[in-house]
Amino acid sequence: MIRLSKSSLSSIERVNLDRVLESEFLGMGAEVKFFEEELSDLLGRPVCCVNSGTAALHLALQALSIGPGDEVLVPTITYVASFQAISATGAKPVACDIQPETLHIDYNKAASLVTSATKAVMPVHYAGRVVAPFDTQEFAQRFNLRVVEDAAHAFGSKYNDSFVGSFGDVVCFSFDGIKNITCGEGGCIVTNDSAVIERVKNQRLLGVEKDTERRFENQRSWNFEVSEQGWRYHMSDINAAIGRGQLKRSQSFFKRRQKIADLYRNNLSSIPDLKLVMESPDGSVPHIFPVILPQDVDRNHLRAKLADLEIQTGIHYQPNHLLKFYRQQGDFSIAEKLYSRILSLPMHFDLSDRDVAKVSRSLLEFLQ
Ligand SMILES: *Cc1c(COP(=O)(O)O)cnc(C)c1O
Repeated sequence: MIRLSKSSLSSIERVNLDRVLESEFLGMGAEVKFFEEELSDLLGRPVCCVNSGTAALHLALQALSIGPGDEVLVPTITYVASFQAISATGAKPVACDIQPETLHIDYNKAASLVTSATKAVMPVHYAGRVVAPFDTQEFAQRFNLRVVEDAAHAFGSKYNDSFVGSFGDVVCFSFDGIKNITCGEGGCIVTNDSAVIERVKNQRLLGVEKDTERRFENQRSWNFEVSEQGWRYHMSDINAAIGRGQLKRSQSFFKRRQKIADLYRNNLSSIPDLKLVMESPDGSVPHIFPVILPQDVDRNHLRAKLADLEIQTGIHYQPNHLLKFYRQQGDFSIAEKLYSRILSLPMHFDLSDRDVAKVSRSLLEFLQ
């Protein structure tokens, strides 16, 4: 079976994991501290690790004091985690239409959805392709908004030689099982805003103030203060040990994903009317490889055919404004036109050149 996505684990992660198991300290301790320092070295800014990407987004919003009565703009084409993180604070996710080429949030349309309740915007670096930083900055300044980037797809992606996470207001990554690097489960918040970092450090430990420093010495606080709602969102040393191994290998992960995208681009360029979201190589690291099928193609039939050939595919994503919990009327003409034509091809580190050739050939045969 050619899998749509998977983790790739080596002896490096196993050795790290063994070290933690030997220590018989499985909570948040020195491994998390080192992982945060290593991420911080890469991105050049303070990092706070948590137990999922969703938790990172939730805490980032709470640390910006976003809550009931507030609104946060978010593209409708994203994983439901973006929406859940917003609604978890009590704020309302306001779905926006997307741009047809990148599937990024359309800031022109988003402008018409801004109200006096709008406090933040959550651009999503869809597929790993980077939302142009200047567009985001301009939009946020124009309406006086904070920015929480959903960078779950974009660990390793660069814009003009700078890593996603090294610029921007508040940036959140996911390290779940299939992301560009994994901890098993995990995520982090990256920002230069020291007030936000201090706040999320407490919030991840049930609001217990200044517990992080104690935990990093494999201790904990017995006499403490709590001043706000917190959550049990801290990362364990088990997850950090896996993440540190993955981070060591990450340059090869990034290169391989970019190479696979190159191969797909070469193989698929001859299909008329097939559009690639990652249409040309840039500094981004593809997390998924979505294509937009020609208008008349029966996607279900195609997916079944590929499944018969042992090729898994995915759909990233159905529009969130059509879900019962997030139902919203409005102009979603691009998202509603494109979502039935989106198909994600296999993309992961262990995909061989032969696998890519087989997927490409099978798609070509079906579409011609
Ligand atoms: C994976 C993902 C998240 C959430 O990350 P988890 O670690 O799974 O909680 C958020 N947004 C997008 C776009 C994602 O793909």
